[in-house]
Amino acid sequence: MTPLVEVSGLSVEFGGIAAVHELTFAVSRCEIVALMGPNGAGKTTTFHLIAGARQPGSGRIMFDGRDLAGLRPDARCRLGVARTFQITQPFQELSVTENVMVGAMMHHKRLPDARAAARRYVELVGLADKADAPAKGLSTGQRKRLELARAIATRPKLLLMDEVTGGIDQKSIPGMIELVRRLREQGLTVIMIEHNMRVIGEVADRAIFMNRGVKIAEGTPADIARHPDVIDLYLGDA
Ligand code: ATP
Repeated sequence: MTPLVEVSGLSVEFGGIAAVHELTFAVSRCEIVALMGPNGAGKTTTFHLIAGARQPGSGRIMFDGRDLAGLRPDARCRLGVARTFQITQPFQELSVTENVMVGAMMHHKRLPDARAAARRYVELVGLADKADAPAKGLSTGQRKRLELARAIATRPKLLLMDEVTGGIDQKSIPGMIELVRRLREQGLTVIMIEHNMRVIGEVADRAIFMNRGVKIAEGTPADIARHPDVIDLYLGDA
């Protein structure tokens, strides 16, 4: 079976500096891949390129057998690419359910249907008790769950998750890992920017390590954790 995502020779520069350089990787259906690397490695830029927020200088992204070149973010979302952000951006005054309806409306044009679907996703991410609460009162961990619910309400094939465990308290991490596993069981493919080696070891099938825009290692989380360049660049100061 062809991979769901095939990135080949992807490059983009900002002001003459390569943010991503000749990046090539593939992600199979239902795989969970961690994207790692120090600050400025090019991880967020890679997400921007896949989601369509930026256009590459060169290279190609194939998604589900289709070349994404030139497609805007909304078109990519309709094809099945969803993302969450490192800094969550809910509509503060809207309730949790209403925020998730924004995603659910992609497939449900009638408000009651969108609301019912949104409720299901709110439950799935463990926010049922906050369903009618305004987003502005949520903790960081709850906001991350809300973002996940809003993203998966668009019924994506691929979810780009930006530091879903970043800034949340330690005791919430196992629940988040469990949630990501459950999403995969439902058929989702995940690329996650993640720094926490324990999370990566528990949830990712594979990890890709970038530095200064270049992929420098790829393999199982265990392979990555003992890669000398990775240890030098990253785990050394962890
Ligand atoms: P972090 O972990 O800090 O979020 P990252 O791996 O996500 O880092 P990117 O944000 O993708 O890294 O940045 C890659 C490089 O591109 C960095 O050198 C960054 O300064 C540069 N860069 C990113 N966006 C822009 C932009 N809009 N204009 C200029 N330079 C940019």
